[in-house]
Amino acid sequence: MTTASIVDNFPALRQSIGDKSLVYLDSAATTQKPQSVIDAVTRYYEHDNANIHRGVHTLSQRATQSYENARKNIASLLGANRPEEVIFVRGATEAINMIAQAWARPRLVEGDEILITEMEHHSNIVPWQIVCEQTGAILKVAPVLDDGSLDIEAYKSLLSEDTVLVSIAHVSNAIGTINPVQELCAFAKEAGATTVVDGAQACGHLQVNFQEIDCDFYAVSGHKMFGPTGIGCLLGKYEVLQEMEPWQGGGDMILSVSFEETTWNDVPFKFEAGTPNIAGAIGLGAAVQFIEGIGYETMVSHEQELLAYGRGVLENIEGVTLVGASEHNAGVLSFTVEGVHPHDVGTILDHAGVAIRTGNHCAEPLMRRFGLSATCRASLSVYNTTEDLDRLGLAVQEAIRILG
Ligand code: PMP
Repeated sequence: MTTASIVDNFPALRQSIGDKSLVYLDSAATTQKPQSVIDAVTRYYEHDNANIHRGVHTLSQRATQSYENARKNIASLLGANRPEEVIFVRGATEAINMIAQAWARPRLVEGDEILITEMEHHSNIVPWQIVCEQTGAILKVAPVLDDGSLDIEAYKSLLSEDTVLVSIAHVSNAIGTINPVQELCAFAKEAGATTVVDGAQACGHLQVNFQEIDCDFYAVSGHKMFGPTGIGCLLGKYEVLQEMEPWQGGGDMILSVSFEETTWNDVPFKFEAGTPNIAGAIGLGAAVQFIEGIGYETMVSHEQELLAYGRGVLENIEGVTLVGASEHNAGVLSFTVEGVHPHDVGTILDHAGVAIRTGNHCAEPLMRRFGLSATCRASLSVYNTTEDLDRLGLAVQEAIRILG
């Protein structure tokens, strides 16, 4: 597939907003879905709809096979050691909450420390605050430098024998910084900490290899990698998952139940209580195949070209300031426009058919770090083009002309 023909796979991109063709620059919030993903979900409901793991009938067997094939596809794309290391969850948020409640809560004691960074999404802050409240553990935060990269020296100095768990974003959703997670996890491990990587923003852009990063847990968001909403994964090292207690109780996560004693099913089923999002998992499996059809190499080079082009477009507009535009960036253009509130910029851009995100991007502490309450964020994906970025530039100039 060439980058020019990739856009043809996305039906939602073939529409107009008023009389302007749509330019979609909000992929960090959610990516558009290729036809193959939409078809996989439809096919499941049209032909194979049945509950999984329980039925002996044909439909149930087909549904189970598609669901388990999706698990295998994800394990292979993301470099898990085995499919059992992939647990289906609602998304990265649920993955992190599961680690906080099922792994951390039973293990943390008063005075233990959890280390995160200043660039985390609220999903990688609040679950740790809750578990700190429950256990008396302390939340530590590694600072971000002016260019939007992590202060690695400060991060290292915050690691100590009290650090029980480290949880860091692979890619920041608000400014796009790519963190050197393999290196950061190695430092954390030297200090004896268990490691979590929030990969919500990474898997739709970069080649992720769970074994190479060598973290204990890796959180994945399906809807940010061309999959459906309401599906994601928690990747966990098999030995760590075996030791972890279940989070939710219910059907499918048990081997046997009696009023006297209940025993748990094997990993990963121990963590998949109840009927899961079967269609979502199958759709995510199709998204993995879509990514493999393009290849991460093509995606990375296309998005990096667009990022450089987009930075050029915005830097040439007087009154526009890029925020946290570090060198290693996965395709996020976060910016402010002098004298114009980001929400007003977003509204004018929408009238021009250009969809961006404005606000604090669920990263309030990072906004505060830059002395801001909000930014405008244009986020790229493989279906974007330089024309999209020209349209962004023209629309920002229009916003300045009207409101600046
Ligand atoms: N972490 C980051 C960095 C994110 O960008 C997001 C989603 N905006 C999440 C976590 C939460 O992901 P999900 O929507 O899959 O729950």
